[in-house]
Amino acid sequence: MTRPRQKKRKLPADRARVEKIISRLNRAHPDAKLDLDFTNPLELLIALILAAQARDDLVNQITPALFVKYRTAEDYAAAPPEELEKEVRRINFYRNKSRLIKNCCAELARSFNGEVPSGLEELLTLPGVGRKTGNIVLGNAFDRQAIGVDTHVMRLSQRLGLTRNTNPDKIEFDLTAIVPEKQRVRFCHLLQYHGRRVCFAKKPRCPECVIKSLCPYPEKSTA
Ligand code: SF4
Repeated sequence: MTRPRQKKRKLPADRARVEKIISRLNRAHPDAKLDLDFTNPLELLIALILAAQARDDLVNQITPALFVKYRTAEDYAAAPPEELEKEVRRINFYRNKSRLIKNCCAELARSFNGEVPSGLEELLTLPGVGRKTGNIVLGNAFDRQAIGVDTHVMRLSQRLGLTRNTNPDKIEFDLTAIVPEKQRVRFCHLLQYHGRRVCFAKKPRCPECVIKSLCPYPEKSTA
């Protein structure tokens, strides 16, 4: 079946469009936030390692007991591997993830006095930490304005024509150039919620989307 041809509309320039997108998504998703539960940077780092290709709600079911049992980077580093694996076995790739947690925490203990560093360069030296994880830690645990490109941020920024790149690092740089500095973390939370509630990967709900007039996605659904 051929799709009805979409009328081409002239869209505002990217920076102006981003501001409108943020404003409309703020009204549509006032509750948008990071969905992982944590009370300090170390807990967020552990939760993010566990959350790779896993649901946040499952991670949130596992972490309360984990965070009571292991309170410091040294605790994780010293834990017998099989004991840590048992604690996280409900999550996918639990063996790999528990090994990453141990290695990451051993490095924290060795090089950072057990504290999660508050700079991206230092975070990137930790095993299991890439730019996405590092930026999410900075943005959500240290109140720094950073863009962590997760699957929703990547998909929506591509659909919205805010980047032509497919590499997450390049997408981060593209977005950093057009998203107002004070709103970078908020922008990510809004795209994550919009991606979960409206702009689905397979069948986006375009007719009810509050930013449809700002979106150039050629495959927009019509019903
Ligand atoms: S119009 Fe459709 S493709 Fe564009 S952001 Fe909204 S739901 Fe996603």
